[in-house]
Amino acid sequence: MLEVITHTLSVISLLTCFAIFFWLIAQRLHKPEGKTENLRNFHCAHDPVFFNKELKCEAFYPAISIILTQPIIFFVVVQLHGVMNTVVPYQMFDKSIENLPVVVQLVLGLFVLDLALWVRHSFVHKYFWPFHAVHHSAEEISWLTTKRLHPVDDFVMGIIDFGVLFIIGFSAEGMAIAVVVKSLHNMYIHSNIVLDYPKPWKYIFVSPNMHRWHHATEKEAHDKNFCVLFAFIDYLFGTYYVPDNALPKAYGSGHNEMDDIANKNILKELWLPFKMASETSVAPASASPNGAEIARETP
Ligand SMILES: [Zn+2]
Ligand SMILES: [Zn+2]
Repeated sequence: MLEVITHTLSVISLLTCFAIFFWLIAQRLHKPEGKTENLRNFHCAHDPVFFNKELKCEAFYPAISIILTQPIIFFVVVQLHGVMNTVVPYQMFDKSIENLPVVVQLVLGLFVLDLALWVRHSFVHKYFWPFHAVHHSAEEISWLTTKRLHPVDDFVMGIIDFGVLFIIGFSAEGMAIAVVVKSLHNMYIHSNIVLDYPKPWKYIFVSPNMHRWHHATEKEAHDKNFCVLFAFIDYLFGTYYVPDNALPKAYGSGHNEMDDIANKNILKELWLPFKMASETSVAPASASPNGAEIARETP
């Protein structure tokens, strides 16, 4: 029990440090002044505020993730680890990975993690959209949006991440370091920063701008930019979409009830995906012939 309290307090302290850090950076950046603003300059996407209007929803998800979802994922992973050790008696490349320098292991781990992320992110967009729509319902993207994940979405993604890294053959330490680096970069690309990279870097690394387009309401941007680290993975799979020198007009899931910030509370947001999943109206023309897909509404 004491361990759980210590862990929770240390995570809360860490998140508070991040909040102050991102807020201080945001204070020093200037706001874009027009459409011709060079997106390669660091600047804020919106006025920096310490508490934005979506805080009541956004602050809830990291808390529920720490207190509930992560311990459940940890428990399931420990159980699965035992089962997988017998079902999968060897990990695919563990011996080869073990002998590599740590930096190479890390880069390889990040690449594998991002590749797995492309697979599971496109999977949740296609088959788990009502739950993942919570992440997309943010009207303003901020570093806290990173963890704006419905517990079901958080759980499914956590288990897929573990499964892929385990089968490839990463050690527990290797998996932990790769996950931490990926998570920090994920916060950076969600932060209140407008930044596009010059070519060819914009095709290699994911920029804050690239992920802003992932959250855009524009139809052309739907189901694009799934990765959080390596843009070339999206490029190779044909899901890269980053128009030059342009920002999305608006952000949201495209589902009116889900995007309705003024009339939404946390309980409603938790329950809404179940309602959406049961409604046939959210699986319209774009659904697959077998009806398995649950697509987003187009505004
Ligand atoms: Zn998404
Ligand atoms: Zn996002």
